[in-house]
Amino acid sequence: MDEQNRRNQQPDSDIMVKVDGLYYTYADGTQALRGIDLEIKKGEKVAIMGSNGSGKSTFFLNLNGVFRPQKGNISINGKPLDYSKKGLLEVRRQVGIVFQDPDNQLFSASVTQEISFGVLNLGFPKEEVREKVDQIMDELHITEFKDKPTHFLSGGQKKRVAIADVLVMQPSIVILDEPASALDPKHARMIDEIVDELSRSGITVLLSTHDVERALIWADKIVLFDEGKVLKEGKPEEIFFDEALLEKTNLEKPSVLKIYDGLIKEGLLPKGACMPKTAEELITLFVNTK
Ligand code: ADP
Ligand code: MG
Repeated sequence: MDEQNRRNQQPDSDIMVKVDGLYYTYADGTQALRGIDLEIKKGEKVAIMGSNGSGKSTFFLNLNGVFRPQKGNISINGKPLDYSKKGLLEVRRQVGIVFQDPDNQLFSASVTQEISFGVLNLGFPKEEVREKVDQIMDELHITEFKDKPTHFLSGGQKKRVAIADVLVMQPSIVILDEPASALDPKHARMIDEIVDELSRSGITVLLSTHDVERALIWADKIVLFDEGKVLKEGKPEEIFFDEALLEKTNLEKPSVLKIYDGLIKEGLLPKGACMPKTAEELITLFVNTK
């Protein structure tokens, strides 16, 4: 049996997203995606990194059917993406996207209406919708401003409402496009905590970020986009110790790894010492080595 046949016959049960040879070109001729291949496991935490214009947002919009690729295939949970009206409704329920700019996502008059809109459209009974919406608003600390018009909210509040919009649909995959951008540190941390909680509950999370420190701590896998292609994918340590790759993609090495490198170079840590992901881990490592 050749490799292709063998692969086709294996159950893909632990694969949540499978993308083969994806090409997407905008109407003005911009080739935003130029042959993306990617597999994402159920429950995996994936950080998509890469400079502005490398195709991250375009890729996300292909994943939930907003854009239809000119070439290539996308399967979600073992099923090829179905572009019929019914199929698209289903894929948008399963694959939730939190846009970079919440103003592109929030349309309703009040916060409660905004979060209820999608689930009401799915035809759930009103009472059930109310319960779900109340629960999500409570979890994301939205309740105190639930009656406000969405356009009066602060950036951090809007972002949480946009996340609630997605979570209330109980998606299997949550995509966050640069979730921390334009947020102050306190609200960025709040979003980090929400994302951690999502991962703990087993949801597959994809996010794009320029934050190398965060990606090092959080991600199971980093996928580096470059000019509409996957330049490299791997565990954070595989990405962040590849100096040539960092140079090429203008990525900074996380500071904890810079210090770790420095300590090894000075002979203060043994070569091959277990790689720390946080300052606390590095301190423990250092103290235990002495
Ligand atoms: P990223 O999210 O990594 O910054 P994008 O997916 O937004 O990258 O953009 C990929 C490429 O597609 C860029 O060259 C960008 O200028 C282009 N692009 C994005 N949106 C459009 C659009 N609506 N029409 C034409 N080109 C676009
Ligand atoms: Mg983008």
